[in-house]
Amino acid sequence: SVECRNIRLSYDRTEVLKNISLTVEPGEFFALLGPSGSGKSTLLRLIAGFNQQNSGELLVDGQNIGSVPPHKRNIGMVFQSYALWPHMTVWDNVAFGLVERKVRGAELKARVAGALELVGLSQYAKRYPNELSGGQQQRVALARTIVIEPQVLLLDEPLSNLDRNLRVQMRQELLSLQRRLGITTIFVTHDQEEAMTTADRMAVMDQGVVQQVGSPSNLFDFPCNRFVANFVGTMN
Ligand code: ATP
Ligand code: MG
Repeated sequence: SVECRNIRLSYDRTEVLKNISLTVEPGEFFALLGPSGSGKSTLLRLIAGFNQQNSGELLVDGQNIGSVPPHKRNIGMVFQSYALWPHMTVWDNVAFGLVERKVRGAELKARVAGALELVGLSQYAKRYPNELSGGQQQRVALARTIVIEPQVLLLDEPLSNLDRNLRVQMRQELLSLQRRLGITTIFVTHDQEEAMTTADRMAVMDQGVVQQVGSPSNLFDFPCNRFVANFVGTMN
């Protein structure tokens, strides 16, 4: 699980996260939804350890990890502007994080092969990123993250660069992959429909505040305020 307790974060004098309290349950596919600038990426970066809160607590599987540096947190993050290493093959891109963690030999091979298989890219191991489609590159970014077997998976708009058809296909694949792995996942999107059709539960953020948390149908049927109603309701 991921638990945020009364988290506040400011850049300079501007408070960007305003008293965020949120619990994501083990194995849940949780969508974080909100307009541009509402603080979604800031919150994910904080969970990953790249941002530090000014106050409040962050617990992962019950442990306070506030002072654990990012590389010691077992958290995988796919960034909004994911960047593959252009000079490395697909295989090497996926292997990179394992090599860094001193995984070698047969175990390295098996895990990279397994991750590529999971995202359906076994045939593409020898290609370079610029020889792949956008969707295939997204899958490499995903494989690179899941290969380290993170406790928590953070996805910051992982499908935003894809065209609509591919996005719909990829989000189903993503969901079935998440189900197979059972990893607690937080999925950031500004696409209402994407959140509504995939998430177990979702949070709607606006201006650094979590406006409401619940199942998609709960938020759709019982929005707690006008903002949530408008934001969730626009899917039709
Ligand atoms: P988007 O949907 O556009 O990605 P977001 O919800 O992810 O938006 P954030 O990137 O979390 O929004 O930004 C929240 C607010 O914090 C914005 O007003 C942004 O300008 C500000 N902000 C983000 N990063 C920094 C930074 N490094 N320094 C100062 N302000 C920042
Ligand atoms: Mg963002």
